[in-house]
Amino acid sequence: MNLWDPKTIHQIMAMFGLRFHKEFGQNFLTDAMVIEDIADACAEAEACTVLEVGPGIGVLTRALAERYRTVKALEIDRNLIPVLKYTLGEFDNVTVYNEDVMQADLQALLAEDFQKGPVSVCANLPYYITSPILMKLLESRLPFESITVMVQEEVADRICAPAGGKAYGAITASVNYYGHAEKLFRVPADRFVPAPKVNSAVIRITLWKEKPCSPKSEEMLFRTIKAAFGQRRKTLANALSSGFPALTSEQIRQAVAQVSEDPLIRGERLDIAAFTQLSDILLEMLGVN
Ligand code: SAM
Repeated sequence: MNLWDPKTIHQIMAMFGLRFHKEFGQNFLTDAMVIEDIADACAEAEACTVLEVGPGIGVLTRALAERYRTVKALEIDRNLIPVLKYTLGEFDNVTVYNEDVMQADLQALLAEDFQKGPVSVCANLPYYITSPILMKLLESRLPFESITVMVQEEVADRICAPAGGKAYGAITASVNYYGHAEKLFRVPADRFVPAPKVNSAVIRITLWKEKPCSPKSEEMLFRTIKAAFGQRRKTLANALSSGFPALTSEQIRQAVAQVSEDPLIRGERLDIAAFTQLSDILLEMLGVN
């Protein structure tokens, strides 16, 4: 079954009386090599479980099912469920759930799988909700091995940017708190039906087994990151002054001086270790106010 062939995709959609739902970010992959490469990149061990977000008509799901012990796929569009029964019927290691990943209880869904072995995530993500899905997966604290996902290329570049780079932002620092992100390869827009307006890229986030940074308060760490990038053209000190109105400019100046010799430094120059240090300092200052 060549589910990557645009002709087959259109035939299947017509057979089930379906149309592509833009509001669900439905852009289906049509490049067999790309599908194989994503499935290969997703995990090292065959004896693992893969959680797929948004199987669509099942093109990537089939490649995953051929490689790994168990595949659990969450699809929000109930109209695609009968299609997936048809396209995945020959696999007894795949379970499809008609669920919104943002509402799903992933802990309950994967509890048994985490007992059996490694669990990874793989997806061609719907672009309208990429960052919330990634943050939900990371903030779930579930011990995923890795998260391999197709996202808009611009988002891939932001997530994988080095500190100090132009694309470095709140999402880069936040993702880096949970794992190491790398851009694997680019996928041009014409490899999907319907074709999106922008190019895509596949990234892999390998979660830290032990986090390299331990802030006194995670909430404060994320508040600090958010404040630092709240007003991008401002210096870190000015951005923090807006984000932490309870602190005096002198306190902010002192806090910034502890992480950098440059009083005019901007947020994008701080790596996650520096953000952790800064958030601990701000937490202490807020405590004595
Ligand atoms: N995996 C297929 C492929 O590569 O051809 C489809 C990928 S398409 C970019 C995104 C898929 O995610 C669609 O099938 C869409 O219906 C589904 N989806 C969108 N939002 C979702 C959500 N919140 N939870 C689960 N699935 C979702």
